[in-house]
Amino acid sequence: MDLYEHQARQLFEEHGIPVPRAEVTDSPKEARAIARRLGGRAVVKAQVRTGGRGKAGGVKLAADPAAAELTARQILGMDIKGHRVDTVMLAQPVDIDTEYYVSYVLDRTAGGFLAIASAEGGTDIEEVAASRPEAVARVPVDPAEGVTSAKAGEIAEAAGLPPGTVDTLVRLWRVLVAEDALLVEVNPLVRTRQGRVLALDGKVTLDDNARFRQERWGADTPAPGDPLEAAAAAKGLNYVRLDGEVGVIGNGAGLVMSTLDVVAGCGARPANFLDIGGGASARVMADGLSVVLADPAVKSVLVNVFGGITACDAVAEGIVQALESVRLTKPLVVRLDGNNAARGRAVLDRRAHPGVEQATTMDGAARRAAQLATDA
Ligand code: GDP
Ligand code: MN
Repeated sequence: MDLYEHQARQLFEEHGIPVPRAEVTDSPKEARAIARRLGGRAVVKAQVRTGGRGKAGGVKLAADPAAAELTARQILGMDIKGHRVDTVMLAQPVDIDTEYYVSYVLDRTAGGFLAIASAEGGTDIEEVAASRPEAVARVPVDPAEGVTSAKAGEIAEAAGLPPGTVDTLVRLWRVLVAEDALLVEVNPLVRTRQGRVLALDGKVTLDDNARFRQERWGADTPAPGDPLEAAAAAKGLNYVRLDGEVGVIGNGAGLVMSTLDVVAGCGARPANFLDIGGGASARVMADGLSVVLADPAVKSVLVNVFGGITACDAVAEGIVQALESVRLTKPLVVRLDGNNAARGRAVLDRRAHPGVEQATTMDGAARRAAQLATDA
């Protein structure tokens, strides 16, 4: 999850990284009052979870409180790359001497982190990186060692940043570790004409797998754009909508992924990824089925379960119970294998639900689901 700039700014402040004074509002009138509190002049900044706000007209300097109100009125409601601006941050303007770029980002291939830094930061950093990669230093960071003063000195030197940035580089690493971030980025980190080093913009991407211990940002979590994904997320389901016609439900991410492949191999397209996990209770099965059936593009549904600790008969009971609360509007093909598969199949046979068919192999089940989807 990406944080807003003002949230990143708050984290920086908490970790002792110098930032300009700033306040957030959704009201132009309040923007005027904030500018007054900041000393009159203010930079008015759109709060959206995307970069390039400056170039899109979402970052503007206001010379006095009246101008701040006007500018806030302009920026609020603006659309920046598909993100509507609901709030603005007003920050005390800074006299910039030089703009730097610094970030730490998870490098999955290397199994570590990467420090990326440049003495040519600012809004053109992408072009700098593309046209003159040598102007952007990349220094691997061992996650176990982290960024010590010595390491920060090495990063600063590699990028041509002044020694005054070393403390900020160390503290920025602490932000990453303490907040469970996959990315922390400051662009620009500036040296002011007065010689101070300040973080003028911040981007922080939190690791969603650590959300349980980063609850303070929970309320601000953006709902997924897709309504079915939002409904699934609200039920705690691992669901990703795709653009096909065969709904897929399975237990275990690996099994579901291969099920998608097999469905595609049968000439159909999977409508979604849905992993109901190891437990596969009736409740979860009902939730999963209702989400998948709610997709108008779905023509048939394939349930592919490999019984492990939760045996197939328990899963079959789950399916039967789920079908008591969910109206089956599309044909359902079930393939049960693994622990207690025969008993599970017997449970489904006994119920003989008219919309439910069984198949004994994954290929057979996928072929049948694909065929039902094509015939529908
Ligand atoms: P972004 O475009 O979304 O990355 O937004 P930034 O917060 O990075 O702002 C874009 C640019 O506006 C910065 O690179 C600066 O050049 C400029 N800017 C932002 N705040 C100030 C400020 O306080 N003073 C001055 N002079 N320029 C600023
Ligand atoms: Mn920026």
